[in-house]
Amino acid sequence: MKRIGVFTSGGDAPGMNAAIRAVVRAGIFYKKEIIGIYRGYEGMIEGDFVPMEVRSVSNILQRGGTMLKSARSKEFLTKEGRTKAFEQLKKMKIDGLIGIGGDGSFAGMHHLYLEHKMPYVCIPGTIDNDIPGTDFTIGYDTATNTAVNAIDKIRDTALSHNRLFFIEVMGRDSGYIAINSGIAGGAVAIIIPEEETSIEELIEKLDASGSQNKTSSLVIVAEGGKSGSAMEIAKKVQERFSYFDTKVTILGHLQRGGTPTYFDRVLASKMGVAAIEGLEAGQTDVMVGIVHKEVIFNKFDEIMSQPKDIHKDDLRIAKILSI
Ligand code: ATP
Repeated sequence: MKRIGVFTSGGDAPGMNAAIRAVVRAGIFYKKEIIGIYRGYEGMIEGDFVPMEVRSVSNILQRGGTMLKSARSKEFLTKEGRTKAFEQLKKMKIDGLIGIGGDGSFAGMHHLYLEHKMPYVCIPGTIDNDIPGTDFTIGYDTATNTAVNAIDKIRDTALSHNRLFFIEVMGRDSGYIAINSGIAGGAVAIIIPEEETSIEELIEKLDASGSQNKTSSLVIVAEGGKSGSAMEIAKKVQERFSYFDTKVTILGHLQRGGTPTYFDRVLASKMGVAAIEGLEAGQTDVMVGIVHKEVIFNKFDEIMSQPKDIHKDDLRIAKILSI
């Protein structure tokens, strides 16, 4: 393998730049040519390529977002779109791919591999931490820290006014950001997609904390929860429960941006090097993961057949501490 294409795809995540840098530098270290592909699969279909040198990735390690830009591509979901992308890769003499993104991006690479035998390694980059086969995905640590910082600030105003705040955090169908920002932020309740929470249960919990003279309460709601959005839950609670003045804050995209934490930079750096070394060693149709500090390569089919569950102990701890 001589020429490797690198791209970012799906939602951006802090630490993607650190991963690009590691892929470019490790690639050059191992005497490969590295080609950057702009805007994920969109840019691949259009042939939006740029040769990368050691200095192309100077000064990006500490930056959020992705220097290669990211995109979601409808066209790549079709066989014809993927054939166009493959033709562009062939024209550019790219003979291996490293893509940084979530499970959708991984599925895209898998299809390109099945249809055109394009070898690839996927690097898991998503703030949601919803991919099995790795303890953490790139961006999750930073996003959770950002959520905790915001929760701390909201607590100050909640305390000053006897307010009940519902704070909605990101994570799509995964409660990782919610459960861990909830534990770190001292939430009275955490509502996650992996667990049913009825409005009755929630009101009971709030009643109990109210009767124990709590002067503020924070409820963390994961965006993909089955009980509804933070706005809907807050409305139902306010109708039944007048002790507190109820407010809602949706943290939204601010969790996506910002300087990556040391943890995400190191994770991204390790995964970037592992992806290059994996491709060189003949790994393909895999996602690199780090489990208990060890680098592993997970086959696409294995990953897609297992759910990434919330750590049960996290739930237990959150409940013990929220009395
Ligand atoms: P995030 O978790 O941050 O949203 P993601 O990689 O899961 O990241 P998606 O929008 O699901 O984000 O996927 C990114 C792109 O990957 C899509 O726009 C599409 O072009 C491609 N893709 C997704 N699923 C498939 C699939 N099943 N087959 C082919 N390509 C796919």
